[in-house]
Amino acid sequence: MNRRTFLTSIGALAVGAALPARTHAFDPQSLRQGYRRRILGLKAAGMLPIFDIESSYNPYRIDLPAFVQGMDANGIAVMALSVDMPGKEYSAGNRWSDHSLDLVRDYPDHFLPTGNGGNHPAWTRNPDQFLDDNEAAMLSGRYLLMGEFEFRHYPSPRQIERGETHRDVAIPIDGPHGHRLFALAERTGVPFQIHYEIEDGLLAPLENMLQRYPAAKVIWCHFAQIRYAARAPSYGPAYLRQLLERHPNLYVDTAFGGANSLYQASGERHARYWADRDGWRDVIAAHPYRFLAALDIGGDRMDRLTAWAGNLRDFLGDLPLPLAEVVAYKAAWRLLFGEEFAI
Ligand SMILES: [Zn+2]
Repeated sequence: MNRRTFLTSIGALAVGAALPARTHAFDPQSLRQGYRRRILGLKAAGMLPIFDIESSYNPYRIDLPAFVQGMDANGIAVMALSVDMPGKEYSAGNRWSDHSLDLVRDYPDHFLPTGNGGNHPAWTRNPDQFLDDNEAAMLSGRYLLMGEFEFRHYPSPRQIERGETHRDVAIPIDGPHGHRLFALAERTGVPFQIHYEIEDGLLAPLENMLQRYPAAKVIWCHFAQIRYAARAPSYGPAYLRQLLERHPNLYVDTAFGGANSLYQASGERHARYWADRDGWRDVIAAHPYRFLAALDIGGDRMDRLTAWAGNLRDFLGDLPLPLAEVVAYKAAWRLLFGEEFAI
C-alpha cells in the first residue's frame, strides 16, 4: 500500500475500535524506498532479485552480518524473516519477540517487519495467547506481515530425520482461532500465511473462510506440495485456477522442493510442480500476481541459504522471464504496498 493508503487504513481502524497508543518505529515510505534500491541494485548487477515472503529464524541463534552477506551473494533483495520462538525460551516465559524489528532497524533495506511464526509451541499450546500477542503487535502498526500459521502440518522432512514424528498439527481453520485470525487480518489489512497441507477434506473449510472474510489476505504456503497424493485427488492446476478466480484474497507462495525431493513418511515426491510443469505454469501465467517467491529458510537450516535459493531459482528459471520477475518480487510488492513495482 502507498503511504496514503497506509494512513487511511490506520484511520479506518481507529474508527472501529479503541486502539492502544500507536508508535511507528518505521516509516513505511522510507522502508519501501530502501527495498526498491536493493531490487534495482541487484537487477543492475545482472541478478533476478528475490523478495522472499516466507522464512523464519531463531532470534537467539543468528549471525546477522553473515546471514546478510549470504542474502547479498544469493540475490535475495528482501526477506520476510519471522521469529519462531524456541520451546526452551517459550517455557521460560518469552511468548513473543519483536526481534524482527531489530533486523529492520539494523538492515532496513533487507528485511520486512514480520510477526512471529504460528507454530509449536506458541501457537499450538496456547493459541488464544498467541492471537492476543499478534493482535497487539499488528495493531501497533509496526508490522507489514504476519507469520506462518500452522493449521494442518505434517512433520517436516527434517523433523522426521530427527525422529520428531510426534508433531502433527491439526487446528481447524474454521474453528474459533481461525475466525479470530481471519477477522484480525481483515480488520488490519495485514496479510498472513498459512501452512495447510493439501487434502481434499480441508479444501471446503478454507474456501468457506476465504468467502466469509473477503478482505483478509491469505498466503497459502508451499504451492502444489502434496505429501500424500491419495489424500488430494481434487487438487490440480484446474482446481487451483478456479480457487484463485473464486477468491481474489488468496495468494500462494512457491516454497517447495526440487524435482527429486522425497517426503520420507509417504515415500512420494511431494513437489508436484515438477511432474506437470506445463499445467502449473499455465495457472501461474493466468494469475501471476497471486504467486509469491519464498525460500522457507528456518532456524534449523540458516546455513542452507545458497542451496534453498538455488532451488527457488531452478523453479523461477523454468518460467518465461517476464513471469519470473512477477513471481520473484513484483507480486510481493503489489500485495504489500498496493501498487505496481515501477522501474
Ligand atoms: Zn510451512
